[in-house]
Amino acid sequence: MTARPDESVVHGSKASPMSANTEAALARPQNLPAVDRLLRGPGAAALIAEHGHTLVAGEARALLDGLRARAVAGTLLAAAVQPEALDSALAQHVHGRLAPRLQRVINLTGTVIHTNLGRALLADEALAHLLAMMAGPNNLEYDLATGGRGDRDSVVEELLCTLTGAEAATVVNNNAAAVLLGIAAMAGGREVIVSRGELVEIGGAFRMPDVMASAGATLVEVGTTNRTHPHDYERAINERTALVMKVHTSNYAVQGFTAAVDEATLAPLCHARGVPLATDLGSGALVDLAKWGLPREPLPQEMLAAGCDVVTFSGDKLLGGPQAGLIVGSKAEISRIRKFPMKRALRMSKLPLAALEATLRLYLRPERLTQDLPTLRLLTRPLEQIEATVQAVLPALAQAVAPRFTVSAVALQGQIGSGSLPVERLPSAGVAIAPMARKAQGRALDELATALRSLPLPVIGRIADDQLLLDLRCLEDPQALLGQLAALATRLR
Ligand SMILES: *Cc1c(COP(=O)(O)O)cnc(C)c1O
Repeated sequence: MTARPDESVVHGSKASPMSANTEAALARPQNLPAVDRLLRGPGAAALIAEHGHTLVAGEARALLDGLRARAVAGTLLAAAVQPEALDSALAQHVHGRLAPRLQRVINLTGTVIHTNLGRALLADEALAHLLAMMAGPNNLEYDLATGGRGDRDSVVEELLCTLTGAEAATVVNNNAAAVLLGIAAMAGGREVIVSRGELVEIGGAFRMPDVMASAGATLVEVGTTNRTHPHDYERAINERTALVMKVHTSNYAVQGFTAAVDEATLAPLCHARGVPLATDLGSGALVDLAKWGLPREPLPQEMLAAGCDVVTFSGDKLLGGPQAGLIVGSKAEISRIRKFPMKRALRMSKLPLAALEATLRLYLRPERLTQDLPTLRLLTRPLEQIEATVQAVLPALAQAVAPRFTVSAVALQGQIGSGSLPVERLPSAGVAIAPMARKAQGRALDELATALRSLPLPVIGRIADDQLLLDLRCLEDPQALLGQLAALATRLR
């Protein structure tokens, strides 16, 4: 089918956004084939043989609808309705529809546990266990010893108790769910005391006062933003008090003239009045990171030893596992939480549960953790190794982005991320890519960032000080970047 140049402009030049000398090459709606005709062509036949009629026919209809609208608007070039062009557009539509929306990316932001990029990376052992367990039936809620019904919590409860010293443990979907469930089960319809310095918002609309309301508890604020004392808690505890709660201020720091009451001080004070103490750690590392020169995070085992009745923490932050909310504590409180009806709605699926079990097992061999747990491996990666990666990629990267951009090696400050240790920085190394021309620098940088994101394995960096920075701490395999540089060069041309 060929477009007839003399007939191709539908409403005359005024309605057409095309300039006068391209009007001749426009397609009209009637130049488009019917769906059936497109589907009988050789290109469509090959697609149907591979993917079946339903998908290909649906995409053919959508393709032709789109083209028709453009033809009516006078913006469709005649070349676009040629059979080869239509076949290739149809193939693109089909492949685009089948392409997953969830994609692997390369995280060169410098933030190791990046919430927008999926947080902790799973260990090989967790991936293998996950895959093996999901491929067939498993004993998720079946007791192999008795042949009777089992409890999915028992998959990880003993491990969690061993690792934290807790009497009992349960798990839910994520830590937000753990906090919500804990408050609802322990304090629904009654009062919960929290320091004004700990009324955190952790993003995604999770704010402590709102969580209290959702859980049906009444928040009683004590102290001030910067200072809270033991007598603030003592004065607030009365017969309506169901719970005293500490919240780890994981994504901000209160500095200067400050005072907070720690768990070891607060626990005896609460217990003397018959009120349980809960603490939400947020990240909650299971091992002391200080032994690798990293900043210290409070550990669940320390919180339990200090007298907390319930401790909640995340599975996919510093723990290095799947999304999960871990709840450890006394037999009495954990049993209340487990029996609360909301637990069923927030329970963990078998997928993350398998990954969590395998991740927790890695903690039984703490000496091997910095090799076995990817998150810890990246956080403890020696600076010399990161600098060596910079040298390994710099020349080829410089060539790929030339002549529009220059590349230099730079020292960078990364972050742990996910609200862990917000003020601490991780000394790191990477490359800075800067536009050569002073003019339209911002646009050039956006174009570069877009090109990097459009690669088969999208590369995510950060823009700062008129440069695009790639922190190479998380690039363990330089080939993942080097192998895509030819594609990058093409996109920048
Ligand atoms: C991250 C965090 C949560 C929520 O944990 P998720 O696993 O993301 O649901 C709750 N409390 C604190 C203090 C946190 O830092």
